[in-house]
Amino acid sequence: MKWTKALIQTLRDDPADAEIDSHKLMVRAGLMKKVAGGLYTYLPLGMRTLNKVQKIVREEMDRAGAQEIVMPILQPAELWKTSGRWESMGPGMFRLKDRAQHDYALSPTAEEMVTDVVKSIVSSYRQLPLTVYQIQWKFRDEIRPRFGLMRSKEFLMKDAYSFDTSLEAADASYMAMFNAYKKVFARCGLKAYPVEADTGDIGGKFSHEFHVLADAGEDGIAFCDGCGYAANLEKAERKVCASLTSGKDSASLLMEVIPTPGAKTIEQVSKFMGVPGSAFVKSLVYSVDGTPVMVCVPGDRDVNEVKLKHFLGAKKVELADYETVLRATGANAGSVGPVNPADATLKIVADQELKGAKGCIVGANKDDHHIKNVDLDRDAKIGDYGDLVIVRDGDICAKCGKPMVIKRGIEVGHVFKLGTKYTDAFKAVYKNDQLAEQVMVMGCYGIGVSRTMQAVIEQSHDKDGIVWPASVAPYQVCISLLDPDKEDVAKVAFDLEAALEAEGIDVIVDDRAERPGVKFKDADLIGFPVRVVVGGKGLANGGVEVKRRCDDKSKMKLVPVAEAAAAIKEALGGLA
Ligand SMILES: [Zn+2]
Repeated sequence: MKWTKALIQTLRDDPADAEIDSHKLMVRAGLMKKVAGGLYTYLPLGMRTLNKVQKIVREEMDRAGAQEIVMPILQPAELWKTSGRWESMGPGMFRLKDRAQHDYALSPTAEEMVTDVVKSIVSSYRQLPLTVYQIQWKFRDEIRPRFGLMRSKEFLMKDAYSFDTSLEAADASYMAMFNAYKKVFARCGLKAYPVEADTGDIGGKFSHEFHVLADAGEDGIAFCDGCGYAANLEKAERKVCASLTSGKDSASLLMEVIPTPGAKTIEQVSKFMGVPGSAFVKSLVYSVDGTPVMVCVPGDRDVNEVKLKHFLGAKKVELADYETVLRATGANAGSVGPVNPADATLKIVADQELKGAKGCIVGANKDDHHIKNVDLDRDAKIGDYGDLVIVRDGDICAKCGKPMVIKRGIEVGHVFKLGTKYTDAFKAVYKNDQLAEQVMVMGCYGIGVSRTMQAVIEQSHDKDGIVWPASVAPYQVCISLLDPDKEDVAKVAFDLEAALEAEGIDVIVDDRAERPGVKFKDADLIGFPVRVVVGGKGLANGGVEVKRRCDDKSKMKLVPVAEAAAAIKEALGGLA
Protein backbone atom coordinates (compact mmCIF):
# COMPACT_ATOMS: atom_id res chain seq x y z
CA MET A 1 0.00 0.00 0.00
CA LYS A 2 1.25 3.45 -0.87
CA TRP A 3 0.88 5.98 1.92
CA THR A 4 -0.05 8.63 -0.63
CA LYS A 5 -3.09 6.55 -1.62
CA ALA A 6 -4.13 5.62 1.90
CA LEU A 7 -6.72 7.52 3.95
CA ILE A 8 -4.42 8.39 6.83
CA GLN A 9 -4.59 11.47 9.01
CA THR A 10 -2.23 11.83 11.94
CA LEU A 11 -2.69 14.59 14.48
CA ARG A 12 -0.11 16.41 16.53
CA ASP A 13 -2.41 17.28 19.44
CA ASP A 14 -4.41 15.13 21.80
CA PRO A 15 -8.19 15.31 21.37
CA ALA A 16 -9.70 17.51 24.08
CA ASP A 17 -12.10 14.87 25.40
CA ALA A 18 -9.53 12.06 25.73
CA GLU A 19 -8.55 11.14 29.30
CA ILE A 20 -6.45 8.01 28.76
CA ASP A 21 -3.44 7.35 26.53
CA SER A 22 -5.03 4.70 24.33
CA HIS A 23 -7.94 7.00 23.48
CA LYS A 24 -5.59 9.86 22.62
CA LEU A 25 -3.41 7.60 20.48
CA MET A 26 -6.27 6.01 18.57
CA VAL A 27 -7.42 9.44 17.44
CA ARG A 28 -3.95 10.90 16.87
CA ALA A 29 -2.76 7.88 14.89
CA GLY A 30 -5.82 8.11 12.66
CA LEU A 31 -7.39 4.77 13.65
CA MET A 32 -10.77 6.31 14.30
CA LYS A 33 -12.64 9.57 14.21
CA LYS A 34 -15.27 10.80 16.60
CA VAL A 35 -18.75 11.31 15.17
CA ALA A 36 -20.48 12.26 18.44
CA GLY A 37 -20.16 11.29 22.11
CA GLY A 38 -19.52 7.54 22.25
CA LEU A 39 -19.74 7.08 18.47
CA TYR A 40 -16.73 6.59 16.19
CA THR A 41 -15.95 5.95 12.57
CA TYR A 42 -13.23 3.35 12.12
CA LEU A 43 -10.76 4.68 9.56
CA PRO A 44 -8.79 2.26 7.36
CA LEU A 45 -5.91 1.78 9.82
CA GLY A 46 -8.32 1.11 12.70
CA MET A 47 -10.46 -1.14 10.55
CA ARG A 48 -7.46 -3.26 9.60
CA THR A 49 -6.64 -3.88 13.25
CA LEU A 50 -10.28 -4.50 14.14
CA ASN A 51 -10.46 -7.08 11.34
CA LYS A 52 -7.33 -8.81 12.60
CA VAL A 53 -8.69 -9.05 16.12
CA GLN A 54 -11.95 -10.45 14.71
CA LYS A 55 -10.04 -13.00 12.66
CA ILE A 56 -8.20 -14.26 15.75
CA VAL A 57 -11.46 -14.44 17.73
CA ARG A 58 -13.19 -16.29 14.91
CA GLU A 59 -10.36 -18.80 14.49
CA GLU A 60 -10.23 -19.64 18.19
CA MET A 61 -14.02 -19.88 18.49
CA ASP A 62 -14.15 -22.25 15.52
CA ARG A 63 -11.27 -24.28 16.92
CA ALA A 64 -13.11 -24.62 20.23
CA GLY A 65 -16.09 -26.08 18.37
CA ALA A 66 -18.34 -23.02 18.43
CA GLN A 67 -20.38 -22.25 15.29
CA GLU A 68 -20.84 -18.77 13.90
CA ILE A 69 -24.26 -17.23 13.35
CA VAL A 70 -25.44 -13.64 13.07
CA MET A 71 -28.56 -12.38 14.79
CA PRO A 72 -30.34 -9.06 14.13
CA ILE A 73 -29.27 -5.99 16.05
CA LEU A 74 -32.89 -4.88 16.01
CA GLN A 75 -34.67 -7.14 18.49
CA PRO A 76 -38.45 -7.32 19.05
CA ALA A 77 -39.53 -6.29 22.55
CA GLU A 78 -41.52 -9.53 22.96
CA LEU A 79 -38.27 -11.48 23.43
CA TRP A 80 -37.17 -9.14 26.19
CA LYS A 81 -40.57 -9.25 27.83
CA THR A 82 -40.42 -13.05 27.97
CA SER A 83 -37.29 -12.91 30.13
CA GLY A 84 -38.48 -9.90 32.13
CA ARG A 85 -35.51 -7.83 31.00
CA TRP A 86 -37.60 -5.33 29.00
CA GLU A 87 -38.24 -3.79 32.43
CA SER A 88 -35.05 -4.68 34.30
CA MET A 89 -32.57 -3.47 31.65
CA GLY A 90 -33.60 0.08 32.47
CA PRO A 91 -32.44 3.19 30.60
CA GLY A 92 -29.16 1.58 29.48
CA MET A 93 -30.98 -0.18 26.64
CA PHE A 94 -31.78 1.72 23.46
CA ARG A 95 -35.45 1.31 22.57
CA LEU A 96 -37.35 2.36 19.48
CA LYS A 97 -40.62 1.79 17.60
CA ASP A 98 -41.30 0.88 14.01
CA ARG A 99 -44.01 2.63 11.95
CA ALA A 100 -46.62 0.20 13.25
CA GLN A 101 -45.70 1.23 16.81
CA HIS A 102 -44.10 -2.13 17.66
CA ASP A 103 -41.35 -1.86 20.29
CA TYR A 104 -37.77 -2.91 19.59
CA ALA A 105 -34.43 -2.83 21.38
CA LEU A 106 -31.03 -2.24 19.86
CA SER A 107 -29.21 -5.34 21.06
CA PRO A 108 -27.03 -4.83 24.15
CA THR A 109 -26.66 -8.67 24.29
CA ALA A 110 -28.57 -11.61 22.86
CA GLU A 111 -29.43 -14.29 25.44
CA GLU A 112 -33.14 -13.99 24.67
CA MET A 113 -32.83 -14.15 20.90
CA VAL A 114 -30.36 -17.02 20.83
CA THR A 115 -32.46 -19.07 23.27
CA ASP A 116 -35.50 -18.51 21.08
CA VAL A 117 -33.56 -19.65 18.00
CA VAL A 118 -31.98 -22.71 19.58
CA LYS A 119 -35.19 -23.95 21.18
CA SER A 120 -36.89 -23.86 17.79
CA ILE A 121 -34.24 -26.17 16.28
CA VAL A 122 -32.93 -28.38 19.08
CA SER A 123 -35.25 -31.05 20.47
CA SER A 124 -33.04 -34.01 21.42
CA TYR A 125 -30.10 -34.62 23.72
CA ARG A 126 -28.34 -35.92 20.62
CA GLN A 127 -28.06 -32.31 19.34
CA LEU A 128 -26.28 -31.19 22.51
CA PRO A 129 -23.84 -29.80 23.56
CA LEU A 130 -24.07 -26.83 21.23
CA THR A 131 -22.17 -23.54 21.26
CA VAL A 132 -22.97 -20.73 18.83
CA TYR A 133 -21.39 -17.30 18.55
CA GLN A 134 -21.67 -14.07 16.64
CA ILE A 135 -19.50 -11.01 16.16
CA GLN A 136 -21.99 -8.19 16.07
CA TRP A 137 -22.42 -4.52 16.98
CA LYS A 138 -23.94 -3.91 20.38
CA PHE A 139 -25.47 -0.80 21.89
CA ARG A 140 -25.58 0.75 25.33
CA ASP A 141 -26.99 4.13 26.23
CA GLU A 142 -24.07 5.18 28.42
CA ILE A 143 -24.79 8.09 30.76
CA ARG A 144 -21.34 9.42 30.12
CA PRO A 145 -19.51 7.88 27.17
CA ARG A 146 -15.78 8.13 27.77
CA PHE A 147 -12.38 6.53 27.25
CA GLY A 148 -12.92 6.12 23.49
CA LEU A 149 -14.00 2.58 22.68
CA MET A 150 -13.96 1.55 26.35
CA ARG A 151 -17.30 3.16 27.14
CA SER A 152 -18.93 3.90 23.84
CA LYS A 153 -22.57 3.75 22.83
CA GLU A 154 -21.83 1.34 19.99
CA PHE A 155 -19.23 -1.42 20.21
CA LEU A 156 -18.26 -4.66 18.51
CA MET A 157 -18.69 -7.79 20.62
CA LYS A 158 -18.23 -11.46 20.19
CA ASP A 159 -20.97 -13.16 22.14
CA ALA A 160 -21.16 -16.93 22.43
CA TYR A 161 -23.83 -19.09 24.05
CA SER A 162 -23.56 -22.73 25.05
CA PHE A 163 -26.44 -25.17 25.53
CA ASP A 164 -25.99 -28.38 27.51
CA THR A 165 -28.01 -31.22 28.98
CA SER A 166 -26.97 -30.58 32.60
CA LEU A 167 -25.02 -28.25 34.90
CA GLU A 168 -22.18 -30.77 34.95
CA ALA A 169 -22.07 -31.04 31.17
CA ALA A 170 -22.05 -27.24 30.97
CA ASP A 171 -18.71 -27.21 32.82
CA ALA A 172 -16.97 -28.65 29.77
CA SER A 173 -18.48 -26.03 27.46
CA TYR A 174 -17.39 -23.36 29.93
CA MET A 175 -13.83 -24.64 30.10
CA ALA A 176 -13.59 -24.84 26.30
CA MET A 177 -14.46 -21.14 26.10
CA PHE A 178 -12.19 -20.28 29.04
CA ASN A 179 -9.23 -21.89 27.30
CA ALA A 180 -10.10 -20.35 23.92
CA TYR A 181 -10.14 -16.91 25.56
CA LYS A 182 -6.64 -17.40 26.91
CA LYS A 183 -5.48 -18.14 23.35
CA VAL A 184 -7.36 -15.20 21.84
CA PHE A 185 -5.77 -12.65 24.16
CA ALA A 186 -2.31 -14.17 23.93
CA ARG A 187 -2.49 -14.05 20.13
CA CYS A 188 -3.53 -10.39 20.30
CA GLY A 189 -0.30 -9.78 22.24
CA LEU A 190 -2.24 -9.07 25.42
CA LYS A 191 -1.44 -10.13 28.93
CA ALA A 192 -4.96 -10.82 30.18
CA TYR A 193 -5.65 -12.37 33.57
CA PRO A 194 -8.67 -14.53 34.35
CA VAL A 195 -10.25 -13.11 37.47
CA GLU A 196 -13.00 -14.69 39.55
CA ALA A 197 -16.19 -12.70 39.27
CA ASP A 198 -19.54 -12.72 40.98
CA THR A 199 -21.75 -15.54 39.74
CA GLY A 200 -25.07 -13.92 40.53
CA ASP A 201 -27.68 -16.51 41.45
CA ILE A 202 -25.83 -19.52 40.05
CA GLY A 203 -23.14 -19.82 42.69
CA GLY A 204 -19.96 -21.84 42.40
CA LYS A 205 -16.74 -20.87 40.71
CA PHE A 206 -18.08 -20.46 37.22
CA SER A 207 -17.69 -16.85 36.31
CA HIS A 208 -14.44 -15.29 35.21
CA GLU A 209 -13.60 -11.91 33.78
CA PHE A 210 -10.48 -11.48 31.69
CA HIS A 211 -8.66 -8.31 32.64
CA VAL A 212 -5.79 -6.41 31.11
CA LEU A 213 -3.91 -4.59 33.86
CA ALA A 214 -3.73 -0.85 33.29
CA ASP A 215 -3.68 2.15 35.59
CA ALA A 216 -6.49 3.59 33.49
CA GLY A 217 -8.67 0.53 34.17
CA GLU A 218 -12.11 1.11 35.66
CA ASP A 219 -12.22 -2.12 37.67
CA GLY A 220 -10.38 -3.04 40.85
CA ILE A 221 -8.93 -6.53 41.13
CA ALA A 222 -7.51 -8.23 44.21
CA PHE A 223 -4.41 -10.31 43.48
CA CYS A 224 -2.55 -12.69 45.73
CA ASP A 225 1.07 -13.44 44.80
CA GLY A 226 1.09 -16.26 47.33
CA CYS A 227 -1.42 -18.56 45.64
CA GLY A 228 -2.41 -16.81 42.42
CA TYR A 229 -5.91 -15.95 43.64
CA ALA A 230 -7.40 -13.14 41.56
CA ALA A 231 -10.90 -11.78 41.96
CA ASN A 232 -12.72 -8.59 41.14
CA LEU A 233 -13.64 -6.36 44.05
CA GLU A 234 -17.31 -7.39 43.97
CA LYS A 235 -16.27 -10.93 44.65
CA ALA A 236 -12.88 -10.82 46.43
CA GLU A 237 -12.87 -12.41 49.87
CA ARG A 238 -10.56 -11.75 52.77
CA LYS A 239 -9.53 -13.50 55.94
CA VAL A 240 -9.91 -11.69 59.25
CA CYS A 241 -7.03 -12.14 61.68
CA ALA A 242 -8.10 -10.01 64.63
CA SER A 243 -11.31 -8.39 65.72
CA LEU A 244 -11.74 -4.69 66.18
CA THR A 245 -10.94 -3.52 69.70
CA SER A 246 -9.78 -0.28 71.20
CA GLY A 247 -6.53 -2.01 72.13
CA LYS A 248 -7.04 -1.76 75.88
CA ASP A 249 -9.10 -3.80 78.26
CA SER A 250 -12.30 -1.89 77.92
CA ALA A 251 -14.68 -4.70 78.77
CA SER A 252 -15.49 -3.20 82.12
CA LEU A 253 -16.13 0.30 80.82
CA LEU A 254 -19.78 1.26 80.55
CA MET A 255 -21.34 2.86 77.54
CA GLU A 256 -21.34 6.61 77.48
CA VAL A 257 -23.45 8.85 75.22
CA ILE A 258 -21.56 11.82 73.74
CA PRO A 259 -23.05 14.75 71.87
CA THR A 260 -21.44 15.12 68.44
CA PRO A 261 -23.19 18.20 67.07
CA GLY A 262 -23.13 18.59 63.31
CA ALA A 263 -20.75 15.64 62.77
CA LYS A 264 -22.38 13.27 60.29
CA THR A 265 -19.68 11.24 58.58
CA ILE A 266 -17.22 8.92 60.32
CA GLU A 267 -14.50 11.35 59.25
CA GLN A 268 -16.22 14.29 60.94
CA VAL A 269 -17.03 12.39 64.14
CA SER A 270 -13.54 10.92 64.34
CA LYS A 271 -12.05 14.40 63.98
CA PHE A 272 -14.47 15.76 66.59
CA MET A 273 -13.63 13.01 69.11
CA GLY A 274 -9.96 12.77 68.22
CA VAL A 275 -9.97 9.01 67.61
CA PRO A 276 -9.17 7.10 64.38
CA GLY A 277 -11.94 6.00 62.02
CA SER A 278 -11.07 2.37 62.70
CA ALA A 279 -12.43 2.72 66.28
CA PHE A 280 -15.90 3.31 64.86
CA VAL A 281 -18.60 0.96 63.75
CA LYS A 282 -20.16 2.27 60.55
CA SER A 283 -23.88 1.48 60.53
CA LEU A 284 -26.08 1.74 57.45
CA VAL A 285 -29.72 0.86 56.99
CA TYR A 286 -30.48 -1.05 53.79
CA SER A 287 -33.76 -1.95 52.22
CA VAL A 288 -33.43 -5.68 51.56
CA ASP A 289 -36.23 -6.83 49.26
CA GLY A 290 -38.29 -4.11 50.92
CA THR A 291 -37.42 -4.92 54.56
CA PRO A 292 -35.01 -2.68 56.52
CA VAL A 293 -31.79 -4.31 57.72
CA MET A 294 -28.95 -2.58 59.59
CA VAL A 295 -25.48 -3.40 58.30
CA CYS A 296 -22.44 -2.73 60.53
CA VAL A 297 -18.87 -2.64 59.23
CA PRO A 298 -15.60 -1.29 60.64
CA GLY A 299 -15.57 2.52 60.46
CA ASP A 300 -12.85 2.72 57.82
CA ARG A 301 -14.46 0.14 55.53
CA ASP A 302 -17.13 0.16 52.82
CA VAL A 303 -20.04 -2.24 52.47
CA ASN A 304 -19.85 -4.61 49.49
CA GLU A 305 -23.46 -4.68 48.34
CA VAL A 306 -22.97 -7.74 46.13
CA LYS A 307 -21.64 -9.78 49.06
CA LEU A 308 -24.43 -8.40 51.24
CA LYS A 309 -27.04 -9.50 48.73
CA HIS A 310 -25.70 -13.06 48.64
CA PHE A 311 -25.21 -13.17 52.40
CA LEU A 312 -28.86 -12.28 52.97
CA GLY A 313 -30.10 -14.39 50.07
CA ALA A 314 -31.81 -11.28 48.73
CA LYS A 315 -32.89 -10.26 45.24
CA LYS A 316 -32.34 -6.55 45.71
CA VAL A 317 -30.45 -4.46 48.27
CA GLU A 318 -30.33 -0.68 48.26
CA LEU A 319 -29.76 2.02 50.86
CA ALA A 320 -33.04 2.69 52.69
CA ASP A 321 -34.78 6.02 52.25
CA TYR A 322 -34.78 8.71 54.90
CA GLU A 323 -38.16 7.80 56.42
CA THR A 324 -37.31 4.12 56.71
CA VAL A 325 -34.04 4.94 58.48
CA LEU A 326 -35.82 7.23 60.92
CA ARG A 327 -38.59 4.72 61.62
CA ALA A 328 -36.17 1.81 62.13
CA THR A 329 -33.60 3.57 64.30
CA GLY A 330 -35.09 6.78 65.69
CA ALA A 331 -32.40 8.91 64.09
CA ASN A 332 -31.18 10.10 60.72
CA ALA A 333 -28.37 8.40 58.79
CA GLY A 334 -25.09 9.50 60.37
CA SER A 335 -26.29 8.98 63.92
CA VAL A 336 -27.57 5.40 63.70
CA GLY A 337 -26.05 2.36 65.38
CA PRO A 338 -26.71 -1.20 66.53
CA VAL A 339 -27.45 -0.34 70.20
CA ASN A 340 -31.17 -0.12 70.97
CA PRO A 341 -32.65 0.99 67.64
CA ALA A 342 -36.21 2.40 67.80
CA ASP A 343 -37.53 -0.74 66.12
CA ALA A 344 -36.44 -3.46 68.55
CA THR A 345 -37.11 -6.13 65.89
CA LEU A 346 -34.75 -4.54 63.34
CA LYS A 347 -32.46 -7.18 61.88
CA ILE A 348 -28.78 -6.31 62.34
CA VAL A 349 -25.90 -8.00 60.52
CA ALA A 350 -22.21 -7.18 60.84
CA ASP A 351 -18.90 -7.81 59.16
CA GLN A 352 -16.89 -10.71 60.55
CA GLU A 353 -14.18 -8.33 61.77
CA LEU A 354 -16.64 -6.91 64.32
CA LYS A 355 -17.14 -10.26 66.07
CA GLY A 356 -16.22 -9.69 69.72
CA ALA A 357 -15.47 -6.00 69.13
CA LYS A 358 -15.08 -3.98 72.30
CA GLY A 359 -14.43 -0.35 73.13
CA CYS A 360 -15.91 0.90 69.89
CA ILE A 361 -17.94 3.97 69.01
CA VAL A 362 -21.37 3.72 67.38
CA GLY A 363 -24.17 6.08 66.43
CA ALA A 364 -26.61 6.53 69.33
CA ASN A 365 -29.86 6.36 67.31
CA LYS A 366 -30.40 9.93 68.47
CA ASP A 367 -29.50 12.76 66.11
CA ASP A 368 -26.07 14.27 66.74
CA HIS A 369 -25.12 11.71 69.40
CA HIS A 370 -22.72 8.77 69.53
CA ILE A 371 -21.97 6.13 72.15
CA LYS A 372 -18.47 5.09 73.20
CA ASN A 373 -17.15 2.02 75.09
CA VAL A 374 -19.54 -0.24 73.21
CA ASP A 375 -19.03 -3.99 73.58
CA LEU A 376 -21.00 -5.40 70.64
CA ASP A 377 -21.63 -8.78 72.29
CA ARG A 378 -22.79 -7.14 75.48
CA ASP A 379 -24.64 -4.09 74.18
CA ALA A 380 -26.06 -4.92 70.74
CA LYS A 381 -28.12 -7.68 69.18
CA ILE A 382 -26.18 -8.66 66.08
CA GLY A 383 -28.13 -11.34 64.23
CA ASP A 384 -25.31 -12.64 62.07
CA TYR A 385 -21.71 -12.03 61.03
CA GLY A 386 -20.29 -12.42 57.53
CA ASP A 387 -17.77 -11.11 55.01
CA LEU A 388 -19.53 -7.88 54.02
CA VAL A 389 -16.83 -5.39 53.04
CA ILE A 390 -14.86 -4.43 49.94
CA VAL A 391 -11.30 -5.73 50.24
CA ARG A 392 -8.39 -3.32 50.05
CA ASP A 393 -4.63 -3.35 49.61
CA GLY A 394 -2.94 -5.48 52.24
CA ASP A 395 -6.02 -7.52 53.19
CA ILE A 396 -5.25 -11.15 53.87
CA CYS A 397 -5.98 -13.74 51.17
CA ALA A 398 -8.74 -16.11 52.29
CA LYS A 399 -7.03 -19.00 50.49
CA CYS A 400 -3.41 -18.81 51.63
CA GLY A 401 -3.05 -16.11 54.28
CA LYS A 402 -0.67 -13.84 52.34
CA PRO A 403 -1.44 -10.14 51.85
CA MET A 404 -3.26 -9.19 48.65
CA VAL A 405 -2.65 -6.21 46.38
CA ILE A 406 -5.31 -4.25 44.50
CA LYS A 407 -4.62 -3.44 40.84
CA ARG A 408 -6.63 -1.72 38.14
CA GLY A 409 -7.90 -3.66 35.15
CA ILE A 410 -9.76 -3.28 31.86
CA GLU A 411 -12.28 -6.06 31.34
CA VAL A 412 -11.88 -7.50 27.84
CA GLY A 413 -13.82 -10.73 28.24
CA HIS A 414 -16.27 -12.53 30.48
CA VAL A 415 -17.25 -16.18 30.72
CA PHE A 416 -20.36 -16.98 32.67
CA LYS A 417 -22.36 -20.07 33.54
CA LEU A 418 -25.96 -18.95 33.24
CA GLY A 419 -27.86 -22.02 34.38
CA THR A 420 -31.51 -22.13 33.27
CA LYS A 421 -32.56 -18.50 33.70
CA TYR A 422 -33.33 -18.00 29.99
CA THR A 423 -34.12 -21.58 29.02
CA ASP A 424 -36.74 -21.67 31.78
CA ALA A 425 -38.28 -18.40 30.58
CA PHE A 426 -38.37 -19.57 26.95
CA LYS A 427 -39.21 -23.22 27.81
CA ALA A 428 -36.15 -24.34 25.85
CA VAL A 429 -36.35 -28.08 26.45
CA TYR A 430 -34.86 -31.22 24.91
CA LYS A 431 -35.87 -34.86 25.21
CA ASN A 432 -33.39 -37.04 27.10
CA ASP A 433 -32.68 -40.70 26.28
CA GLN A 434 -35.79 -41.69 28.25
CA LEU A 435 -37.78 -39.25 26.05
CA ALA A 436 -38.45 -37.06 29.09
CA GLU A 437 -38.38 -33.30 28.57
CA GLN A 438 -35.62 -31.39 30.34
CA VAL A 439 -34.55 -27.77 30.36
CA MET A 440 -31.28 -26.91 28.63
CA VAL A 441 -28.46 -25.38 30.69
CA MET A 442 -26.77 -22.29 29.27
CA GLY A 443 -23.49 -20.45 29.44
CA CYS A 444 -22.65 -17.08 27.89
CA TYR A 445 -19.28 -15.75 26.86
CA GLY A 446 -18.37 -12.26 25.68
CA ILE A 447 -15.30 -10.62 24.22
CA GLY A 448 -15.27 -6.87 23.66
CA VAL A 449 -13.64 -6.88 20.23
CA SER A 450 -13.35 -3.10 19.79
CA ARG A 451 -12.38 -2.77 23.44
CA THR A 452 -9.68 -5.43 23.04
CA MET A 453 -8.19 -3.38 20.21
CA GLN A 454 -7.92 -0.37 22.51
CA ALA A 455 -6.67 -2.45 25.44
CA VAL A 456 -3.73 -3.57 23.29
CA ILE A 457 -2.79 0.10 22.87
CA GLU A 458 -3.31 0.89 26.56
CA GLN A 459 -0.94 -1.94 27.44
CA SER A 460 1.57 -1.33 24.66
CA HIS A 461 2.59 2.26 23.96
CA ASP A 462 5.32 4.74 24.80
CA LYS A 463 5.82 8.49 24.63
CA ASP A 464 6.11 8.40 20.83
CA GLY A 465 3.01 6.39 20.11
CA ILE A 466 1.56 2.91 19.78
CA VAL A 467 3.79 -0.20 19.86
CA TRP A 468 1.67 -2.78 18.03
CA PRO A 469 2.21 -6.50 18.40
CA ALA A 470 2.77 -7.92 14.90
CA SER A 471 -0.44 -9.98 15.02
CA VAL A 472 -2.89 -7.06 15.11
CA ALA A 473 -0.87 -4.15 13.68
CA PRO A 474 -2.64 -2.32 10.84
CA TYR A 475 0.48 -2.99 8.75
CA GLN A 476 3.34 -5.06 10.06
CA VAL A 477 6.03 -3.22 8.14
CA CYS A 478 6.43 0.41 7.16
CA ILE A 479 8.98 1.17 4.47
CA SER A 480 10.05 4.78 4.78
CA LEU A 481 11.07 5.70 1.26
CA LEU A 482 13.35 8.70 1.60
CA ASP A 483 13.77 9.66 -2.04
CA PRO A 484 10.47 8.79 -3.71
CA ASP A 485 11.42 10.75 -6.84
CA LYS A 486 14.54 8.72 -7.54
CA GLU A 487 13.40 5.82 -9.67
CA ASP A 488 16.14 3.38 -8.64
CA VAL A 489 15.54 4.05 -4.94
CA ALA A 490 11.76 3.71 -5.31
CA LYS A 491 12.29 0.42 -7.15
CA VAL A 492 14.18 -1.00 -4.15
CA ALA A 493 11.29 -0.07 -1.87
CA PHE A 494 8.51 -1.43 -4.06
CA ASP A 495 10.42 -4.62 -4.88
CA LEU A 496 10.88 -5.19 -1.18
CA GLU A 497 7.17 -4.54 -0.60
CA ALA A 498 6.28 -7.13 -3.25
CA ALA A 499 8.70 -9.69 -1.77
CA LEU A 500 7.24 -9.23 1.73
CA GLU A 501 3.64 -9.32 0.54
CA ALA A 502 4.36 -12.57 -1.25
CA GLU A 503 5.25 -13.94 2.19
CA GLY A 504 1.91 -12.76 3.59
CA ILE A 505 3.33 -9.71 5.39
CA ASP A 506 1.34 -6.44 5.32
CA VAL A 507 3.41 -3.49 4.13
CA ILE A 508 2.85 0.22 3.74
CA VAL A 509 5.35 2.29 1.80
CA ASP A 510 5.65 5.88 2.96
CA ASP A 511 6.15 7.49 -0.43
CA ARG A 512 5.15 10.99 0.67
CA ALA A 513 7.31 13.95 -0.29
CA GLU A 514 7.97 14.65 3.39
CA ARG A 515 11.13 15.11 5.42
CA PRO A 516 12.54 11.90 6.97
CA GLY A 517 11.78 13.26 10.46
CA VAL A 518 8.08 13.59 9.66
CA LYS A 519 7.97 10.05 8.26
CA PHE A 520 9.72 8.54 11.25
CA LYS A 521 7.48 10.42 13.67
CA ASP A 522 4.32 9.19 11.98
CA ALA A 523 5.63 5.63 11.76
CA ASP A 524 6.35 5.69 15.50
CA LEU A 525 2.98 7.28 16.31
CA ILE A 526 1.02 4.66 14.37
CA GLY A 527 3.38 2.04 15.76
CA PHE A 528 4.20 -0.30 12.87
CA PRO A 529 6.17 -3.21 14.39
CA VAL A 530 9.06 -2.96 11.91
CA ARG A 531 10.33 0.13 10.13
CA VAL A 532 12.59 -0.10 7.10
CA VAL A 533 14.41 2.94 5.76
CA VAL A 534 15.14 2.86 2.03
CA GLY A 535 17.28 5.65 0.63
CA GLY A 536 19.69 8.23 2.02
CA LYS A 537 22.97 7.18 3.60
CA GLY A 538 21.90 3.57 4.14
CA LEU A 539 21.35 2.80 0.50
CA ALA A 540 24.54 4.68 -0.41
CA ASN A 541 26.29 2.14 1.84
CA GLY A 542 24.57 -0.69 -0.01
CA GLY A 543 21.75 -1.52 2.35
CA VAL A 544 18.46 -0.66 4.04
CA GLU A 545 17.99 0.12 7.71
CA VAL A 546 15.74 -2.27 9.67
CA LYS A 547 14.46 -1.42 13.14
CA ARG A 548 11.76 -2.85 15.36
CA ARG A 549 9.37 -0.34 16.96
CA CYS A 550 9.95 -1.85 20.39
CA ASP A 551 13.74 -1.43 20.15
CA ASP A 552 15.68 1.78 20.46
CA LYS A 553 17.81 3.33 17.72
CA SER A 554 20.96 1.52 18.79
CA LYS A 555 19.45 -1.77 17.60
CA MET A 556 18.95 -0.49 14.04
CA LYS A 557 20.60 -2.83 11.52
CA LEU A 558 21.97 -2.05 8.11
CA VAL A 559 21.03 -5.00 5.91
CA PRO A 560 22.11 -5.62 2.30
CA VAL A 561 19.15 -5.16 -0.06
CA ALA A 562 19.26 -8.80 -1.15
CA GLU A 563 18.91 -9.98 2.45
CA ALA A 564 16.36 -7.38 3.54
CA ALA A 565 13.19 -9.50 3.18
CA ALA A 566 14.66 -12.32 5.25
CA ALA A 567 15.92 -9.92 7.93
CA ILE A 568 12.51 -8.22 8.20
CA LYS A 569 10.77 -11.57 8.48
CA GLU A 570 13.15 -12.53 11.25
CA ALA A 571 12.54 -9.23 13.08
CA LEU A 572 8.77 -9.84 12.90
CA GLY A 573 9.14 -13.45 13.96
CA GLY A 574 10.35 -12.45 17.38
CA LEU A 575 7.23 -10.35 18.01
CA ALA A 576 3.88 -11.51 19.26
ZN1 LIG B 1 -3.44 -16.39 48.36
